[in-house]
Amino acid sequence: MNIWNEYILATSMDEAGQSLQKAKGSTKFVAGGTDLLLEIQQNRHSPVETLVDVSQIPELRKMEIRGEYFFLGAGVPVSQIATSELVKTHASAVATATGLIGGPQVRNSATLGGNVAHALPAADGMIALVAMDAIAVIYCQGNLFEKPILELFRGAGVTALGVADVLVGFKIRLIQKNEASAFDRVMRPQGVALPILNTAVWLRRDENTIADIRIVFGPSGPVPSRALMVESTLRGNVLDAKALSAAKAAIHDTVKFRTSKMRATAEYRYQLAEVLLESVLNTAWNCAEERKND
Ligand SMILES: Cc1cc2nc3c(=O)[nH]c(=O)nc-3n(C[C@H](O)[C@H](O)[C@H](O)COP(=O)(O)OP(=O)(O)OC[C@H]3O[C@@H](n4cnc5c(N)ncnc54)[C@H](O)[C@@H]3O)c2cc1C
Repeated sequence: MNIWNEYILATSMDEAGQSLQKAKGSTKFVAGGTDLLLEIQQNRHSPVETLVDVSQIPELRKMEIRGEYFFLGAGVPVSQIATSELVKTHASAVATATGLIGGPQVRNSATLGGNVAHALPAADGMIALVAMDAIAVIYCQGNLFEKPILELFRGAGVTALGVADVLVGFKIRLIQKNEASAFDRVMRPQGVALPILNTAVWLRRDENTIADIRIVFGPSGPVPSRALMVESTLRGNVLDAKALSAAKAAIHDTVKFRTSKMRATAEYRYQLAEVLLESVLNTAWNCAEERKND
């Protein structure tokens, strides 16, 4: 039995928009289908009459440098993102995060656009994009507009995207000398899709200090957010035992983790957050050192 009635493969953004307008009944955009089709099949999503597949629209499949930014198409399968040398150079956290999503079959279908549009608070690609301060490029009824990524989220599984909004891709500022990013996570060994906790960091170092930093933990609330107080304990400081200890204390004081039946207790997540933060900080700090002559 079909779990939808009509399937339209859009070849352009205009066609996707028009198909959505013309379709009768409930209509959804789909890309890899790794979230949406399972949800429909398992009755966790209201019935969908028409699926408009946006994953083959050429603009959504691009990965390229555009001026000061690196553009990452929302329809590129995450397996390609994870292995792209451009992504590894300019957004190492995104390359690592996408390389950890699911298994090879899922990664060959799943897209970063779907990971963000599904808006689950621990989605790996989404958390890495927030640490990169990405800008979302959106198409709606003939117009392209941009939004800082954090403005896309309204709640767990809820975005600010309208039904006719197509996520086209993400702009990430090209990496500069002394900058680096990193991502790490801890999964449950048995088949649960999202991690117990993930952590992404972007930083810029001066000779011996952290000049600027962004840190994101997922899940740490219904929508992704930066751990601003943890960042402020590290900004301007040498990455030494004292700074790490202050950052870890700030996690306990200011970041909200909750107990989830499927994954872990809040207490365990606090312990993991300390370990993951130290791991990603050390990785990014050392990579930034290696990049100081680039
Ligand atoms: C076995 C398994 C393991 C997984 N493991 C992980 C994991 O480890 N980490 C992780 O983060 N995720 C994991 N996932 C979740 C999933 O693979 C990702 O969230 C995936 O990136 C979703 O992308 P998609 O293209 O398949 O989205 P789809 O299922 O096609 O769509 C998801 C939602 O996004 C919307 N959408 C898709 N593309 C666009 C667009 N361009 N514009 C507007 N709306 C759009 C759809 O309408 C739908 O609401 C796993 C899934 C499975 C099945």
